[in-house]
Amino acid sequence: MNDLVALLRTVLGPNAVSVDPGDLQAYGKDWTKAHEPAPLAICFPSSTEEVSRLLALCFRDGIAVVPSGGRTGLAGGAVAAKGEVVLSLERMRKMGPVDPLALTVQVEAGAVTEAVHEHCKPHGLTWPVDFASKGSSTVGGNIATNAGGVRVIRYGLTRNWVLGLTVVLMEGTVLRMNGSLEKNNTGIDLRQVFIGSEGILGVITETTLKLTALPGDRDVFLFGLADLPAVFDLFEAARKSRLLVNAFECFSQDCLEQVLEHRNLSAPFTSPCAQYVLLEVERPTGASGQEAVETWLTGLMESGLVKDAVLAQSEKEASNLWAMREGISESLAHRGLLHKHDISLPIHRLKEFIEIWTRDIDQNYPGLKPYIFGHIGDGNLHVNLMKPESMPVGEFKALCKKADEGMFAWIRRFEGSVSAEHGIGLLKRHLLSYSRSDDEIRLMRQMKQSFDPKGLLNPGKVLPE
Ligand SMILES: Cc1cc2nc3c(=O)[nH]c(=O)nc-3n(C[C@H](O)[C@H](O)[C@H](O)COP(=O)(O)OP(=O)(O)OC[C@H]3O[C@@H](n4cnc5c(N)ncnc54)[C@H](O)[C@@H]3O)c2cc1C
Repeated sequence: MNDLVALLRTVLGPNAVSVDPGDLQAYGKDWTKAHEPAPLAICFPSSTEEVSRLLALCFRDGIAVVPSGGRTGLAGGAVAAKGEVVLSLERMRKMGPVDPLALTVQVEAGAVTEAVHEHCKPHGLTWPVDFASKGSSTVGGNIATNAGGVRVIRYGLTRNWVLGLTVVLMEGTVLRMNGSLEKNNTGIDLRQVFIGSEGILGVITETTLKLTALPGDRDVFLFGLADLPAVFDLFEAARKSRLLVNAFECFSQDCLEQVLEHRNLSAPFTSPCAQYVLLEVERPTGASGQEAVETWLTGLMESGLVKDAVLAQSEKEASNLWAMREGISESLAHRGLLHKHDISLPIHRLKEFIEIWTRDIDQNYPGLKPYIFGHIGDGNLHVNLMKPESMPVGEFKALCKKADEGMFAWIRRFEGSVSAEHGIGLLKRHLLSYSRSDDEIRLMRQMKQSFDPKGLLNPGKVLPE
């Protein structure tokens, strides 16, 4: 081991390789803290060329490497628990000038998502990849996970916002793909293969990002609804309106209760509702735009579709309404042991799926409490089961495993996905076949073999054993 560390230091310099126990702990895990970290060393290259030399050395000596961004991943993709070298991109955070004509910016993969937003803001532009972990997640990690978030309904996934990609393969080859071209129909677009590949095919070191105008002022509504069908009727009404929808988020009274208690907030309405929808739209400009919003809202109230509604009158009120949605994960986790999945379904199947799943849990798993919330407009649901206080952990886990089998069978039948946005990583490998056919998995294995013939890059991730 000492020989290897010395060799790594020869390649990267003495200060760019750490075997400090604190670093091994911190860089060997991601947000899931799913496995006990046990990396061999942490490397901090400063350029694409250094990444290439490091990977070539590890390839030659048969050393496994785990690419590591902000380690905010929720699938264990950046976990190093088996003596791997962790390749951290945190010394590669340079951002080039914003091109206001092409609407692009070139950045290194270790750039923090929120730093990219701040960098582009003075130009009235943004990279519209946005979620709660943006202060720590990196552009490389966002691309490697094809990250989603609360604004996917308007902007789509990360994939839509990546033009050029520089990737280093395990044996050291540097691929510079697509530069800053919007149009380039010259054979297979290899760049797309790396987006969402969770670090198993190559290490992303630089990228040219596509930018868009900063959204205008927003209107944020919270609606209270009598039942689940009303949520979907409201979604249809929002889709058919002339409004530009930034977010359409749904959560149940059970979820809201947890947030109100945990964050010590007041209930939004005098009487509770079964379901809530947080709708954010870009405020239309001009008097006629304002009028359109008001007319739409009045029509909704008169139709009886919504039981209650509030429109935020200030940025502070808007943030308070968002807190009720964004605080759900944290509040549930604080409450007790949670079994959770991040799934997606075709939108027309969502209602049926929620009804089937909650009925199954109520009838066959008494004591387990379901909590559902999510990004309805993207077909993305966060489904959670809470352990009753009195139930032993082992019994809870066994029940959840059994309940999952039923749930995944429905996901397969409805042609949904077992992982909507967090990826497969280490934690969901055994579930891949619910969402991908045998032929797809066979082709994925063949691709892995072509890009990484010795299987050294992020081994044990994504593909089933
Ligand atoms: C509070 C919270 C909220 C979140 N909300 C969302 C959300 O709304 N939507 C969403 O999609 N995700 C969400 N996430 C998950 C996570 O933030 C995203 O998956 C994010 O894109 C991961 O970026 P990262 O830099 O932290 O990557 P890491 O966790 O470091 O790595 C993730 C994966 O990418 C690989 N990787 C990292 N960098 C590179 C690179 N340069 N080249 C190749 N492979 C690389 C790693 O090996 C690993 O497999 C959330 C996480 C938290 C903690």
